[in-house]
Amino acid sequence: MTKQQTARVAFSYITSISCSACGKFYPVTQVNTYCPDCQAPLLSHYDLEAVRRCVDREEIRSRRRGMWRWHELLPVQQPENVVTLGEGDTPLLPLPNLGRYLGLSRLFVKDESSNPTGSFKARGLAAAVSKARELGIQKVIIPTAGNAGGAMAAYAARAGIRAYIFMPKDTPHANVEESRMAGAEVMLIDGLISEAAGMAGEKARQEGWFDLSTFKEPYRVEGKKIMGYELAEDFDWTLPDVILYPTGGGTGLVGMWKAFAELEALGWLNHPRRPRMVVVQAEGCAPIVKAFQARQSFCDFWLNAHTIAAGLRVPKSFADHLILADVYESDGMAVAVSDEEILKAQRLLGREEGIFAAPEGAATLAALEKLLDMKWIDASERIVLFNTGSGLKYLP
Ligand SMILES: *Cc1c(COP(=O)(O)O)cnc(C)c1O
Ligand SMILES: [Zn+2]
Repeated sequence: MTKQQTARVAFSYITSISCSACGKFYPVTQVNTYCPDCQAPLLSHYDLEAVRRCVDREEIRSRRRGMWRWHELLPVQQPENVVTLGEGDTPLLPLPNLGRYLGLSRLFVKDESSNPTGSFKARGLAAAVSKARELGIQKVIIPTAGNAGGAMAAYAARAGIRAYIFMPKDTPHANVEESRMAGAEVMLIDGLISEAAGMAGEKARQEGWFDLSTFKEPYRVEGKKIMGYELAEDFDWTLPDVILYPTGGGTGLVGMWKAFAELEALGWLNHPRRPRMVVVQAEGCAPIVKAFQARQSFCDFWLNAHTIAAGLRVPKSFADHLILADVYESDGMAVAVSDEEILKAQRLLGREEGIFAAPEGAATLAALEKLLDMKWIDASERIVLFNTGSGLKYLP
């Protein structure tokens, strides 16, 4: 093998990261947060030409199960830095009973509840904590509405990194306990995730701890994007027509949209037709829905946010501009549902399909019923609901 050929075979093909607003580049070998000039998230770039030449999509299918099958498209550069608890490769389940009930022939749920720590937050935090370890970070901090804290605590424990967590005191009990069980220091605060974020940010600055807040750290979105790759594989290298995504910070939605662009550049899609992306939020906290209805490109801070779906209690995402841009580009939609509708949908999913969904996941079913009433969805379309976590985590 020539020198040039050896150089091409890499564990990760990440090349750089750049600001999603101004485009300024930052080196991947240093610790990065977000663009200080724009207060905007940084996004990763890969040498997709080289991946296209060196990696076979069918070979990836045959690898050992889990998110790290896609390591060439993840930011961790040395395999020994990967911290895993078996995240990813969640099932795409057909919903035949609900489909009959709703008159839909191709309805699916991507069921993320089987991830470690019971939610899809595991994907993002596996990527972020692994990269933090690679960069020599020893202390991490996070503000969280619940599941992100539990996931961060678990991966940090495994990586030998100290974990500090700021949670609103009405966070589900399971999240507090799982975080403490993993050895994290948990601070319960009087206020919302936005106040927790302020406090965590200040503590991070004072103490020099690394802040893993949604989109203020560049790599959680990379872990979450793998949901998009798994969907493409599940649908035999095509994409579904509609995806309903319960949106808080928007990591999964932005991540999947990024994955679809990468899949196109890689030439891995048989039909490069992208899904329409649907943002689902709760009526008590729907900043993206409000901005979407006004056709704005940023959202206003939502006052007095309240909903039983803790993961959706995000008054203003740091990536609001990216979420909205992706939904507009996809010709998508944004829908708000009430807590009552969420609880009804949760019972329906349990009774019809045996799935005990998190309220955030159940919200997508409630939103689907609204989109059917609006005739926004055609009965023959391939529709994917995202159940982002297990209902068990919300028991009192
Ligand atoms: C965090 C969370 C969400 C929202 O996810 P984002 O990608 O931040 O929008 C949805 N559901 C559950 C269960 C969550 O924990
Ligand atoms: Zn910038």
